[in-house]
Amino acid sequence: MLDRSTIFALSSGRPPAAIAVVRVSGPRAGAALERLIGRLPEPRKAALARVRDPASGEIIDEALALWFPAPRSETGEDVAELQLHGGQAVIAGVLDALATIEGCRPAEAGEFTRRAFENGRLDLTAVEGLADLIAAETQAQRRLAYRQLKGLIGDRAEAWRRRLIEALALVEARIDFSDEADVPEDLLGPALYAAQQLRDEIAGVLADGRRGERLRDGLVVAIAGPPNAGKSTLLNRLARREAAIVSPYAGTTRDVIEVHLDLDGYPVTLLDTAGIRDSAEPVEREGVRRARERAAAADLVLWVTDGSASGLAIDERPKNLANAVIWLVRNKIDQAAASSRLGVGKHDSDEFEFTLSISALTGEGTEALSAALSAYAKTYFASTESAIITRARHRRALEETVAALDRAVAQGHLNGEELIAEELRSAATTLGRLTGRVDVEDILDVIFRDFCIGK
Ligand code: GDP
Repeated sequence: MLDRSTIFALSSGRPPAAIAVVRVSGPRAGAALERLIGRLPEPRKAALARVRDPASGEIIDEALALWFPAPRSETGEDVAELQLHGGQAVIAGVLDALATIEGCRPAEAGEFTRRAFENGRLDLTAVEGLADLIAAETQAQRRLAYRQLKGLIGDRAEAWRRRLIEALALVEARIDFSDEADVPEDLLGPALYAAQQLRDEIAGVLADGRRGERLRDGLVVAIAGPPNAGKSTLLNRLARREAAIVSPYAGTTRDVIEVHLDLDGYPVTLLDTAGIRDSAEPVEREGVRRARERAAAADLVLWVTDGSASGLAIDERPKNLANAVIWLVRNKIDQAAASSRLGVGKHDSDEFEFTLSISALTGEGTEALSAALSAYAKTYFASTESAIITRARHRRALEETVAALDRAVAQGHLNGEELIAEELRSAATTLGRLTGRVDVEDILDVIFRDFCIGK
């Protein structure tokens, strides 16, 4: 069932670059390397080699060659790696040469990692961690992803699953082999105790305030408010680049513009929502609807108003933002009369947690706003170090496990052995799905290992 072809790909970034890394994985990797450089280097030692076109014998480049025989390689298969000069023609020459070798074909997206998973080098959560590590934009995200790659949740889940299988083995033994002389009578008690312990441990991990998921997604800050209040200008200033279209006409920022910021190592996504106002124009109405949706789902809303106007009009107050923390940002203070300027941090009304006065145009007060955002992000992401769950998939799997364990423990009071076994099995399967290792054979293995029955 497994694809036995040998795959190859450019594994480094877009050329031209100083160096390009081409990897080959599969049963023909060694043969391919020999065809290209005339020999197999010592395993895991870099060797300088001339890379030749196998057909013409022409030298394509001089490269560092590495040879990782299976199973001690990234994918668990034979892997060859060439570190070439990173030019377009060099890379094309080597990839073309590889394509002519029998049994070799270009790799599909993610195929090296997929093989690492199929060969047991990485579990599913590590595969996800690897994806997150590559996508990480801030140091906090990188740390979380790296720990996941190294088994932060995968090892825990696997350890839980092993304990579950041991508990299950006790129940199965009670059911299947109760007439055997050397099976102790009370096997259910210890099994249910173990199930309860596991249940509490997993529930403890679930009660993490979704910190890992939040860190992975970043803090979402929506910049919202009436048209022409200066939202796009503010976004540009915060992002320190021209990411949004700044327009003097009301209602021209029709879509949601997203900017990713790194605030002291924490990920913050700024959304510039379209000028939120009712409109008869269909395209604009769609923009308004989406803006409201995004803003409503944001963690923090900067409600920007034109502070040069005489105070906050009632109809300018934010609507449908029930779930978010809202800060009032009075903009355009450069145009406001000196007497109407408000101080930073003054509580304006109960609807706003915090009030600032700025000029997005001149930059006055925007440093204070940045600092306040940084501080907010820091608090928001506090203690993410201890987070284990980074995805809804993990959370769902663990919630299902807890539910199955709850049902198993509840059955214990009714002495329903078969049903207990069924729930424990389903809990183990759910954990197995989390790491991608579902295998029923190992239940029997444990029974025979621990009880020496029927010898
Ligand atoms: P949006 O519709 O809320 O995104 O508003 P824009 O950012 O497009 O700004 C609308 C107009 O207000 C533009 O002409 C900006 O140059 C101007 N503007 C934005 N911020 C300020 C400010 O702090 N002071 C002044 N005087 N004008 C501003």
